[in-house]
Amino acid sequence: MTSAHDIAARVAAGSSATTEVETSLAAISQRNAELNVFLYVDEEGARAAAHQVDERIARGEKLPLAGVPVALKDNLCTEGIPTTCSSKILEGWRPPYTATVVERLLAAGAIPMGKTNLDEFAMGSSTENSAFGPTLNPLDPRRVPGGSSGGSAAAIAAGMTPISLGSDTGGSIRQPAALCGVVGIKPTYGLVSRYGVIAFASSLDQVGPFAANVADAALTLEVIAGHDRMDSTSLPETSPSLVAHLKDGVAGRRVGYVKELVDGSDPDVAAAVAAAVEVLRAQGATIVEMSIPELQLGLSAYYLIAPAEASSNLARYDGVRFGLRVDGDDVAGMNEATRTAGFGAEVKRRIMLGTYALSAGYFDAYYGQALKVRTLTINAFQKAYADVDFLIGATTPSVAFPFGSKTKDPMAMYLNDVFTIPSNLAGDPAVSVPFGRGEANLPIGVQLLGPGRSEAGLLAAAQVLEDAERAR
Ligand code: GLN
Repeated sequence: MTSAHDIAARVAAGSSATTEVETSLAAISQRNAELNVFLYVDEEGARAAAHQVDERIARGEKLPLAGVPVALKDNLCTEGIPTTCSSKILEGWRPPYTATVVERLLAAGAIPMGKTNLDEFAMGSSTENSAFGPTLNPLDPRRVPGGSSGGSAAAIAAGMTPISLGSDTGGSIRQPAALCGVVGIKPTYGLVSRYGVIAFASSLDQVGPFAANVADAALTLEVIAGHDRMDSTSLPETSPSLVAHLKDGVAGRRVGYVKELVDGSDPDVAAAVAAAVEVLRAQGATIVEMSIPELQLGLSAYYLIAPAEASSNLARYDGVRFGLRVDGDDVAGMNEATRTAGFGAEVKRRIMLGTYALSAGYFDAYYGQALKVRTLTINAFQKAYADVDFLIGATTPSVAFPFGSKTKDPMAMYLNDVFTIPSNLAGDPAVSVPFGRGEANLPIGVQLLGPGRSEAGLLAAAQVLEDAERAR
């Protein structure tokens, strides 16, 4: 697949954006029925947007993503275009406004091709929780693409679009990126606007890019990042310069090789991380072996904090304002019938867990305790970053797993996020970059983690690993 950088360059030089849209539509129609990547393909909108891009280029506008097709996770609001969060409760709903991240892509000349599949309300690690059927991993259709942004990762792996957006609350960008062999970035909390992103756990949710290479992911993040007055948690500064730093390398950087970010992973995954560490060392980084025991507490804290916030955020789906309504004898009956019919099993489990954790009498023991663990995590990272510039570990414990292998036991599914969750709790950025192959020749993701606003350095390190991988 042509890179976003190359597409933008040729469209800027006068080649029509329509060609790019038709190439993307052809790739989508070739495999979407089989893989279930897109829930909605906006053919008409994409073609119209291509014409507009051509006109803007003809007028002399400089567009960093001119004519670049992009896939959008279906929890990003798009005015007039169905936005389902892969839930029956939102079926038929068309948002009255567009998310800031999508507005910024459009302003940069990118072309939204449609909406991609996810675990219902982004709760899951495999897309098996989608109300509209799972997405299949393009590299092996018997296996999951990861989740919850499985459709957006698969769109890249299947060559349908060069870039896409996902959201990451506990790992939902990095985990599917690893399982589909693509690059995924979870930015610093507040770097990217959440306006128009359907809320799961507001203190953890962050939007970020997927791409087939580090440079395209960096460019996409530059376009969507930066202050937005419509999001009260948005950081005050403008978008960071990332692409310009991709060649910075890792010479002189100190990198923590963290035991807890590898322990428990399959041997093929651990070997890939060890090989990545050697690449960074050979490129001049100083490797510091470290243990950060607090990171192991992240999973339990997350599975109280995220459901607690979700139970509150999802209270708005009451049959009155959005999507589905199932009638009842009175208002409470209608609310109950709507929520019973509209939410899937995992979403109901989270709402019950969260409501329980927040209830009077249990608040201190569960939610309050989890917040203390969150603080411990933040402090532990801070201490580590006093000594090293960034950390390295695995993104996931294994390569892509077969359908059905973790659906019977929620804990088995939750454990998939053990390495990604700590960054969300701390609000810090992290990148997953494909490095090496494991079982069944499937890709492995190596994770690079850094302190707040360290994206430029993390992406330069990811670039070092990508270059080494290409040279192998
Ligand atoms: N798998 C995690 C969960 O189910 C994380 C999901 C996410 O990041 N959206 O909560």
